Amino acid sequence: MKISELFFSFQGEGMFIGYPQIFIRFSGCNIKCAYCDEIKKEKYATDYPVEKTIKEVQSLMKNNPHSISLTGGEPLLQVDAIKELIPKISLPLYLDTNGTLASHLQEIVDDISFFSVDYKPGFVDEFINFMEIIKDKKNVFVKYIVTRNFLFQEAQTLAKILAALNPDIPLIIQPVTPFSGIKEKATAKDITRAYNITSKQVNTVRIIPQTHKFMGIK
Ligand code: SF4
Repeated sequence: MKISELFFSFQGEGMFIGYPQIFIRFSGCNIKCAYCDEIKKEKYATDYPVEKTIKEVQSLMKNNPHSISLTGGEPLLQVDAIKELIPKISLPLYLDTNGTLASHLQEIVDDISFFSVDYKPGFVDEFINFMEIIKDKKNVFVKYIVTRNFLFQEAQTLAKILAALNPDIPLIIQPVTPFSGIKEKATAKDITRAYNITSKQVNTVRIIPQTHKFMGIK
């Protein structure tokens, strides 16, 4: 397994904010978002045998975690390693994914308890295929990162897709955290515009920024 970090912390994004988790941060991603702060960590990635990962997870169990977050990078790129981990781990799994690798998801979908799926505007067909697999499951939500002057069409397309799949899937609008290639925050006007576009078709839309960064935790 290529892992860049393995640690205990608290979920800082989306519907499960504040839950204590063990984070396994898989290295590598199949896409490159301008606002990504993970790509730079790839050079520090370590080869972790599955047994070593299990040992470290066990040592972090003393913190009484709610679940294990499989995050990245894109964890589904290493689906074979995840399949090795699954029978050796007793905690529920929380998958944090870019929503582009449906065939990989299919291999482990029944072993995942929580799904946090990003919508990446350039990957509409991939997102639809991915969401078709989990649209009627519990504990699924979609995150959409809103940047300064985001395109109306992006948000409109997402709202239409969710309305057709299942309008009860919650949508989290996450104002971008300025970092790396992104220098400007989304404004209040951008955030309200994204809410107004999507909430006409999606039943639950909430605005939640990344919270771990301002708390100073991982
Ligand atoms: S999908 Fe996630 S990990 Fe991949 S480049 Fe985008 S923000 Fe980074």
